[in-house]
Amino acid sequence: MAKVLIIGAGGVGQVVAHKCAQVPSVFSDITLASRTESKCKKIAQQILEKQGRTIKTAQVDADKVPELVALIRKLQPELVINVALPYQDLTIMDACLETGVNYLDTANYEPLDDAKFEYKWQWAYQEKFKKAGLMALLGSGFDPGATNVFTAWIKKHYFDEIHTLDIIDVNGGNHGYPFATNFNPEINIREVTAECRHWEAGQFVGTPPMSLKQSFTCTEGVGTYNLYRMYHEELESLVKHFPTLKKAQFWMSFGDSYLKHLEVLGNVGMTRIDPVEFQGQQIVPIQFLKALLPDPSTLGPRTVGRTWIGCHVTGIKNGKPRKVVVYNICDHQACYKEVLSQAISYTTGVPAMIGAKMMLEGKWKAPGVWNMEQMDPDPFMADMNVHGLPWTVIEEPDFKLV
Ligand code: NDP
Repeated sequence: MAKVLIIGAGGVGQVVAHKCAQVPSVFSDITLASRTESKCKKIAQQILEKQGRTIKTAQVDADKVPELVALIRKLQPELVINVALPYQDLTIMDACLETGVNYLDTANYEPLDDAKFEYKWQWAYQEKFKKAGLMALLGSGFDPGATNVFTAWIKKHYFDEIHTLDIIDVNGGNHGYPFATNFNPEINIREVTAECRHWEAGQFVGTPPMSLKQSFTCTEGVGTYNLYRMYHEELESLVKHFPTLKKAQFWMSFGDSYLKHLEVLGNVGMTRIDPVEFQGQQIVPIQFLKALLPDPSTLGPRTVGRTWIGCHVTGIKNGKPRKVVVYNICDHQACYKEVLSQAISYTTGVPAMIGAKMMLEGKWKAPGVWNMEQMDPDPFMADMNVHGLPWTVIEEPDFKLV
C-alpha cells in the first residue's frame, strides 16, 4: 500500500493514472499533478466513472524545484512518477533528493535549447541517490522501458553472449489525419529529425536522418511496413550494460504521408527549435507547430489498428549461434475501450505503472540511478502479461533484417 505522485497529465499521464488506479492493493493513494490542473481533474473524473476510485489532483510547475518540494512535502508520497516532459527530469530529481522520495521516468533528460537526449545528465545523479538511499528508475516506458527489459530477459534465458540487437517499433495504427504525432509533437519531431546513430564495432556511427529503410512484415497479420533506422535513447544504456553487443540498431515505422509532411515542415523551418522574431514577439517554430497539430490525447477514439514492438537478438549459446525475438502487439481500439487512450500512450503508461509497482513492492529495490535492463527482468515480464501488454517469444524467427 503506497502513496504516489504522478506528474504530467498528457496522453501518458492519463494511462498511468488509470493503470495505477486499477491496482489499489499497491497504489492506495494517488495524486495526479500537472501544470494545468483542469486536465488532471478531467482524468480524475474518468477514473471515478470507469473504476469508482477517487484520485487527488494538484497544480505544479515542474520547472520550479521549490514548487515541487512544497507539493511533495505536503503529500509525502513514496514515489514520484514523472510523465511530464524530458525537460523536467532534472528539476524533479532534485526535488526528490531534497524531500527523500524515490523517482521514476519514461524519457531521458533533454535540454530545451539543444535536441540532444543523453543519459549523462541523469547518470551524474548516481552518487547523490545512492548516498540518500533512494532509487531512480530511468526510462520505464515501452521504448525505452519494455524494450530494455525484453533485451535483458532474452539475454538471461537464451544466451551466453548477445551480439546484435534490433529494436523494432511498428505503429500500424491509422488516425485519419494527414499529419499528427502519437505523443508530444515537440518531443516526437525533435527525436525523428535528429541525426541517426547506431552502435557498430565499439562506437556510435552517425548517418543522416531516415537514410536507411527496410520493409518488415510483422507477425500475426499486423502488416508490412517501411522501417527507418533512427537513434533512440535506450541504445546508449543497452550497449553500456551489454558490452558484448557488436551492433545495435533501432527501427521505427513511418507512413509516406507523415514523412512527406515532416520533410516539407523541415524545409520551411517549422521544425526549428530556436526562437525567431515574429511581429515583435519571440516564437519557437516547433512550439507553434505543436499548437496547430492535433493533441495526441484526442487521437484515441479515431485510431484503429495495432502496434508491434519487439527486440530481435542474435548471439551464442553453448558455442552455437542463435536468434530470438520477443514482441508485444497492442490494439489501439482495445486501449481506448479500457483507458480512453490510443496504444502509443498505453504502451508507455503501462510499463511506467509496472516499473512503479516493482519499486513499491520491493522487487526492484536498490539505491542509485538505474536503467531498466539492470534489474531482474522476470517479475516485470510476468506483470506485462497481467496488466495489458502480453508478449510472445519466437526462437529462430525467419525475419531477414538489414
Ligand atoms: P503530453 O505533451 O501529452 O503531456 C505532457 C504533460 O506534462 C502535460 O500534461 C503538460 O502540461 C505537462 N507538463 C509539461 N511541462 C510541465 C511543467 N513544467 N510542469 C508541470 N507539468 C508539465 O506528452 P505525453 O504524455 O505524450 O508524454 C509524456 C512523457 O512520456 C514525455 O516525456 C515523453 O517523452 C514520454 N514518452 C515516453 C515513451 C516511451 O516509450 N518511453 C513513449 C512516449 C512518450 P500542460 O497540459 O499544461 O501542457
